[in-house]
Amino acid sequence: MVSRIIPVDPFDLVVFGGTGDLAQRKILPALFRRFCTGHIPDSARIIGAARSDMTLDAYRAFCAKAIKTYGGTRSCEDGTVQEFLSRLDYVPLDAMGETGWPELVHKLEGCAAGRVTVFYFSVGPRLFGPLAERLRHHGMAGPDTRIVVEKPFGHDLESAQALNATLARHFAEGQIYRIDHYLGKETVQNLMAVRFGNMLFEPLWNSQYVDHIQITVAETVGVDGREEYYDRAGAMRDMIQNHLMQLLCLIAMEPPAKFDPDAVRDEKLKVIRALDAVLPHHIVRGQFEACLDPDHPHPSYRGSVGEPRSTTESYIALRTHLSNWRWAGTPFYLRTGKRLKARSSVINVMFKDAPHSIFGEEAGRHANLLSIRLQPNEGITLKVTIKEPGPGGMRLVDVPLDMTFAEALGPDGGDPPDAYERLITDVIRGNQTLFMRGDEVEAAWAWTDPIIAGWEARGDAPKPYPSGSAGPTDADLLMRRDGREWRGINP
Ligand code: NAD
Repeated sequence: MVSRIIPVDPFDLVVFGGTGDLAQRKILPALFRRFCTGHIPDSARIIGAARSDMTLDAYRAFCAKAIKTYGGTRSCEDGTVQEFLSRLDYVPLDAMGETGWPELVHKLEGCAAGRVTVFYFSVGPRLFGPLAERLRHHGMAGPDTRIVVEKPFGHDLESAQALNATLARHFAEGQIYRIDHYLGKETVQNLMAVRFGNMLFEPLWNSQYVDHIQITVAETVGVDGREEYYDRAGAMRDMIQNHLMQLLCLIAMEPPAKFDPDAVRDEKLKVIRALDAVLPHHIVRGQFEACLDPDHPHPSYRGSVGEPRSTTESYIALRTHLSNWRWAGTPFYLRTGKRLKARSSVINVMFKDAPHSIFGEEAGRHANLLSIRLQPNEGITLKVTIKEPGPGGMRLVDVPLDMTFAEALGPDGGDPPDAYERLITDVIRGNQTLFMRGDEVEAAWAWTDPIIAGWEARGDAPKPYPSGSAGPTDADLLMRRDGREWRGINP
């Protein structure tokens, strides 16, 4: 399969926080990979800006190491790394003070009007406002400027509204790219292609045919390196309010009139606004226990964050509904957690049983299942029922129609672009489709806040669950009460 290379327009990209973990693991390697594929024009410039007082040589060495460690497996010709590094620049700068700003202005001066300038806010959220203010103050917030804002976007509705208002004082909504890297995943975009590019699924995509939908994002890692942030956030704020909510939107939304940023985001917003409040007995929260296995020992959640009385959840499972014509009566089950048995992100669309079995009771009950795997082994599987081959009457079995992208799409399918690659080039191209709009983020918080407030009012404590398990047993009960079961969490 041949992919088309359409280079982006010349640009300057300033990475605030260019020495941080995200820059090192994701942003710089993503830019390098796009450079290797020929998407980045010769005159493009990438400027790291951070508090560290580094020389340009030291910054280039830092980037070279990041590319080597996190650049992935795609081959590049010899010398390409050096060529990429020659595009890099660095400015030591204080987002809260005046140091470095005149130097940054000076570096960006002299660029032709109309050249795209992107400021990537890869810094802690408390710096988002000060950065926006300083960009305006130093005359760098022109109409061709775009800003990329990392998560978390607020801690609740009030803080998200305040942040939106601050950014809106300096930038128009069309200049603000709120990133959710889940939306840049190849399979997530494929979800839209499968739904809206085929006639097959859309007629069945409603409560008449879909029994329920399960969205699982399971992680094997704990909270290492993010303890302080995570203990203030928990799985609800860290995962459900943004990543799982975005997946739910793409699954549940109406077909937009066109694949255009506002048309897509209008439909997603309608989904969030149609979500019912979640009842307390439809939510299970958990905290992982310590693992004593001498090969993989680690402390409990509370031990990890150093808060023996923490009531923050590292796991959550919930059931929710959408009050609209398409989905009334079809529950959506969401779950996510840390230190679970496997790393797996998957959306399972569980269709209803056939209304009547002509094969009799002994043939058993069979229902179709569409499984959309985000990681690992990105791909889509449709489970269909067929006759078991051979003699012995009409015995039915379920078999997968499997489209693993690695197999179906050849080399590019096997090594899909990292989400950041796609999203950064979208910013440079000025395409906001895969970025969250301010009203979407606020609507998601408006749904999340009362749930969290309810826990706080009730003094709710998360249930412990063994590390390496599928989560608290209460999460299984949540399903069983409805006569359903979670699909297994498989690597
Ligand atoms: P980090 O702590 O590793 O890096 C922070 C960066 O900000 C450093 O380059 C530091 O020099 C710079 N910085 C701090 N104070 C500054 C100041 N006053 N002036 C200028 N620069 C300053 O953080 P990170 O993990 O890279 O995360 C950056 C942002 O990305 C955060 O908002 C985080 O929530 C978000 N994020 C990170 C990840 C991840 O995997 N690391 C994932 C999703 C979102």
